[in-house]
Amino acid sequence: MSSNARADTAPTPRGLDEPSLKKSILSRLTRDLGTDPEHASPRDWLNAATLATRERLLERWLRTRRHYDETQSKRVFYLSLEFLIGRLLINSLMNLGIYEEMREALDEYGVDLLEIAELEPDAALGNGGLGRLAACILDSMATQCIPGYGYGIRYDYGMFRQEIENGEQVEKPDAWLRHGNHWEVPRPDHSYVVRFHGYLVSHTQPDGTLRHHWEDGDSIVAVAYDLPVPGYSAQPGAGNVNDLRLWSARASREFELGEFNEGDYIGAVEQKILSENISRVLYPNDASQIGRELRLKQEYFFVSASLQDIIAYHLGRGRSIEELPTYTAIQLNDTHPAIAVAELMRLLRDEHELPWDVAWKITVATFGYTNHTLMPEALETWPVEMMTRLLPRHMQIIYDINQAFINDVHHRFPGDSELISRVSLIDESGERRVRMAHLAVLGSHRVNGVAELHSRLLKDTLFADFYRIMPERFINVTNGVTQRLWLNQANPGLARLVTEHIGNAWIGNLDTIKALDSFAEDASCRSEFREVKLANKRALAAYIQKTQKIIVDPNALFDVQIKRIHEYKRQLLNVLHVITLYNRIRENPDGEHTPRVVMFAGKAAPAYVMAKRIIRLINDVADVINNDPVVGDRLKCVFLPNYGVSLASLIIPAADLSEQISTAGTEASGTGNMKLALNGALTIGTLDGANVEILEEVGTENIYIFGLRTEDVARLRADGYRPRDYYENNAQLRRVLDMINSDFFAPNEPHRHSDIVNTLLDSDHYLVLADYADYVETQQHVSRLYKDQEAWAHKAMLNTARMGKFSIDRTVGEYASEIWSAEPYCIAP
Ligand SMILES: *Cc1c(COP(=O)(O)O)cnc(C)c1O
Repeated sequence: MSSNARADTAPTPRGLDEPSLKKSILSRLTRDLGTDPEHASPRDWLNAATLATRERLLERWLRTRRHYDETQSKRVFYLSLEFLIGRLLINSLMNLGIYEEMREALDEYGVDLLEIAELEPDAALGNGGLGRLAACILDSMATQCIPGYGYGIRYDYGMFRQEIENGEQVEKPDAWLRHGNHWEVPRPDHSYVVRFHGYLVSHTQPDGTLRHHWEDGDSIVAVAYDLPVPGYSAQPGAGNVNDLRLWSARASREFELGEFNEGDYIGAVEQKILSENISRVLYPNDASQIGRELRLKQEYFFVSASLQDIIAYHLGRGRSIEELPTYTAIQLNDTHPAIAVAELMRLLRDEHELPWDVAWKITVATFGYTNHTLMPEALETWPVEMMTRLLPRHMQIIYDINQAFINDVHHRFPGDSELISRVSLIDESGERRVRMAHLAVLGSHRVNGVAELHSRLLKDTLFADFYRIMPERFINVTNGVTQRLWLNQANPGLARLVTEHIGNAWIGNLDTIKALDSFAEDASCRSEFREVKLANKRALAAYIQKTQKIIVDPNALFDVQIKRIHEYKRQLLNVLHVITLYNRIRENPDGEHTPRVVMFAGKAAPAYVMAKRIIRLINDVADVINNDPVVGDRLKCVFLPNYGVSLASLIIPAADLSEQISTAGTEASGTGNMKLALNGALTIGTLDGANVEILEEVGTENIYIFGLRTEDVARLRADGYRPRDYYENNAQLRRVLDMINSDFFAPNEPHRHSDIVNTLLDSDHYLVLADYADYVETQQHVSRLYKDQEAWAHKAMLNTARMGKFSIDRTVGEYASEIWSAEPYCIAP
C-alpha cells in the first residue's frame, strides 16, 4: 500500500480543544445515540463523552499499530485470565491530556463530568492483586511505547458485587455489559475456532517417523473485542495507544447446522447456549484453585485463540515460524495460561511440522512465566483424566515434554528417583494430576517471583529442585503500581501539591518524586500536605455517612485494611486489636486515647466459609462499638462493601495507616501496600512480600514493622506451635477471645463466632496469636506518634517521596530488558 493510500484511510485527527470536544459530544449524542441535549439522560451524556474520547483515541490507535508494523518491532503479549481495569473515562482523558477540556465542554451543557463518570461500570474482570497488576502493566507498556498487547476473556459477568445483609456478605451478579460497552471495538474478522474433546490419530510418515493428529471434537468460536489502552504523555494527545484484546465465546456455525439438519431445533439452540457459557463468568476465587472443568475450558479457550492470533500476525508479516521468538514474547500471568506451552508445541509440531527439538527451543525462547504464590491451595493441577478427555493431544504432548525432561534429569542426577518424582509434570501421589506450575517452568526461559523475598522463597522451597537443575531461569521482578491512576487520578489534591513543588515529571517517571524529600522539612509544605489529607478524609467520611449511616471524625486516625478477605492476610489480627482498643476505652473512658476509625473492605470467595465468618465478625464488632455511648468518637469500626478499583481510589488517598499484616512468607508482594504508602499512609506491617523493600526505601523510622520473620514462622511451626499457650499467658488476649466466644458480639446467638475462636486456639495456621502481643504494642507506638501531627506528616511525606522504586514503569522496564528483550517504539506527536 502506498503512503498516499494509507493517508486516505487514516481518520482525520480530532481536535483536543474544548470547542472541538463540545462539537463531538453533540454529534455523538444526536447521530450515534439518537437523542439531543434536551432529552439526554446522564447515561446518554456519559456515552457521548465516551464516544467523543474514543474517536480521539482511534486515530492514535491506528497510527500506533502502523508504527509497530513498519518498524521491525518485537511484540509482547501479556496473557492473563484477569484484567482489573476499573472505569476508563477519567483515565483515558488524563492520559490523553484533555481532562480539563472535557470537563469544560460538558460544563457548557450543564453536565458534571465527575458525576456522569460514576455511572460507568467498574470493569471488574479480575479478583484482586493479580488482575490489577495486569491492568497496571498495560498502562505502563502503552506509556513507555512498548508494543504490548493484553489478551484475556470478555466475561459477561465480572467479579460479583458484594452487599452486606445482616452483617453477612451476599453476592450479586455483575452484569457490567448491560448498557453496552462504548469503549470496545468488536472485531468479528478476528475469529478463531477452538476445539475440545475429539480423539488422536497416529500415522507413520514415509520416512518412518510417527505423526499425531487431533481429529474431530466440539468447536467453539472465539471472537475478539478490542479495548484501547492509551499511554500517558506529558504532551496532550502524544502517547501511544495499545490494545487489550478480549475473547468472547460464540457457538460455531457448522456445529449448529449439523443439529438443525437432524431436525432438533431446540437441541441445537441449547447446545449453542451451553458452548457460549465458556466466557460467561469470572471465577471469584482469589489464591485458591477451584478445579472445575469449565475453568480449564476457559483457560484453553483464550490461550488457543490468542496463540492463533499471534501466529497469524507473525506469518502475515512474511516471517518464518522459526523466527517467532525474535519478534514475539509471551508472558504467562500465573499458571492460568500455562496450557499455552503445550498448545504452542502442538501448533509447531502438527501444523508447522517442525522437529521436536526445534519446536521446543522456539517455545522456551518465547514464553516467560510469573509466579504469584507459594501457597499449596493456589497451585493449579488438573486431573489427567479430565485433561485427556478435553485435550487429548495436549495430554500426549505433556507426557512427551515430561519424558524428555526426565531423561535429561536422569542423565544429570543419576539414581535420584525422588528428585524425578518431585519435578515430574505428573503428580502420581493420588489421582494422577498435571502440575501446571511445572509445565510453566519447563516451557519458559525466565521464571520470576514478584518481590525479592518471594523470589528467594521460590528458589528455596517451591522450585528448589528446578532451581538446582536450571538456576539461570529464576529472576525477581518486584511488582509496582501506576502512579497515573493511584496518585495523579485518585488523589488530585496531593498530585497538585507535588507538581507545584517539583514539577510534573513524576507522572511519567516516579523516580523524580524523591525531590519531595526535602520539602518534608518545610513546615508550610507539611501544613499543605496535612490539609490535602484532611480534605480527602472529609470526602471519605461523607461517603461513609451517606452509604453506612455512620458518622466518623475526619481528625481521627484513619486505619485501613483493604484487600481480599483471606486468613493469611490476617484481618482477624486487626479485629483482635480493635477489640483490645475497645476494652481499654471501656476500662478507662477518660484516659488518653488516640481517636481511630478502623476500616475494612474486601470480598470473600463465595465458597470460602472462614472468610465469610470473618466478615460477619467484623460487622458484629462494628455494630457493638459504634453504638456504645461510652466510646463516642474515640473508636469507630467500618466495613465498606464492594471493594474494587473505584472504592480503592476513594479510600487510599484518605488513609493514615496501611495495614499490611500477613503472616511472614505468605504474601507474594502486595501492591495495596505500595498505593497506600505513595498516598502518604504509614505502613504497619510484617516483613513479608514487598513490605521488606518498602522498609528499605523509606527507612526504619518511617514504617512500623512487627512480628515473626519468615524464618521464625518456619521454626515455630517445626517446633510445634501451641496457640493455646499464648491465650493462657496473655490476659488481654484471653479477654478478647473470650468476648468473641461469648454472646458479647452476637446477643441473640451465643456461639455464632465460636468456630473462629476454636480455629485460632486449636490450629491457628497463620500464627495470629503468636503475633498479637507485638502487633498491639506496635499499634501503641502508632497511636503515640499520631498525637504529634507534625511528626506524623513528616514521615507521611517521606513515604510519598520515597516510593519511586514502586512505579510499574520500573517493573515493566525490568520485564522488557530481562525477559522480553522489548524496546520502545514511540509514535510521533
Ligand atoms: C491493589 C488492589 C488489590 C491488591 O491489594 P493487596 O493489598 O496487595 O492484596 C486488590 N484489589 C484492588 C481493587 C486493588 O486496587
